Amino acid sequence: MEKTSKIWMDGEFVDWNDAKVHVLAHGLNYGTGVFEGIRVYETSKGPAVFRLKEHVKRLVDGCKVMCFDIPYTEEQIREAIKETIRVNKKVDYIKPCVFLCGEAVGLNPINVPVKFTITSVYLGSYLGKDAAEKGASLMTSSWFRPWNLAAPAGAKVNGIYVTSCLAKRDAVMNGFDEAVMLNAQGNVAECSGENIFIYKRGKLYTSTTADSILEGITRNSIIELARDLGYDVIESELSRIDMYTADEVFMTGTAAEVNIVTSIDRRLVGDGKPGKVGTELASKFADIVRGKDPKYEKWLDRV
Ligand code: PMP
Repeated sequence: MEKTSKIWMDGEFVDWNDAKVHVLAHGLNYGTGVFEGIRVYETSKGPAVFRLKEHVKRLVDGCKVMCFDIPYTEEQIREAIKETIRVNKKVDYIKPCVFLCGEAVGLNPINVPVKFTITSVYLGSYLGKDAAEKGASLMTSSWFRPWNLAAPAGAKVNGIYVTSCLAKRDAVMNGFDEAVMLNAQGNVAECSGENIFIYKRGKLYTSTTADSILEGITRNSIIELARDLGYDVIESELSRIDMYTADEVFMTGTAAEVNIVTSIDRRLVGDGKPGKVGTELASKFADIVRGKDPKYEKWLDRV
């Protein structure tokens, strides 16, 4: 990751090194925050944000879940994100975050002041060049995806990400690229920061929102794209066995984009090489986000 120069904080730009909060900030101590991860791509018509409206809507929805009052409309937030891209030079990833910044000891979040920040960075390839080009290895995590009864799993709430961090750590320490988490029922939920798709017997499958996943914007884009290309896409419960015996597996996420999986728990997916369907979808997606497919221009917001 490469830093940029300015961070948007409550309507003003501050220098990267001055974007500070107190050590007693509620959000730091208890994870009371909501964030987003958004990609911006270079296109022939200048930088474009991928599915900005949907990302801002999910952020605002998350704030609603957490009962955070924010004094901005979705349009103002979209404009602030674009302005953050304009004032910083090399940007490919934007991370807005709304969190309780007030200095409070005690869990009660009521009346604790909220801060809204927009950070932009240059991230590059999230899972690394090798995993992106040759396919990633997954490890089934012993940490379960926090389920809908225990946490707002469908919102990008900061505190929930502790589980993803633990799962990711275990996977990397064991020599894998990424962790896949099961849910309380033992179904495949998703990876630490990506949704998961399998291709089996000529159909594409992905876990349902009832399986305690974050409803990914890349996931939804790939569902629409795959259906447009004539694939059957089914949202359904998936078992670990479904995953092991799939012909193809791939992950989708803003940071990871469409990343093919070539092994899970040391078992090869198919023949262990990137498959036809995942490769086609990854390549179409790469064109779409760079403005090379007029049909999906609707997903791009010019900066
Ligand atoms: N699941 C989790 C837990 C995530 O953090 C992310 C990244 N936001 C995703 C799935 C993928 O979502 P999206 O495609 O909207 O980035």
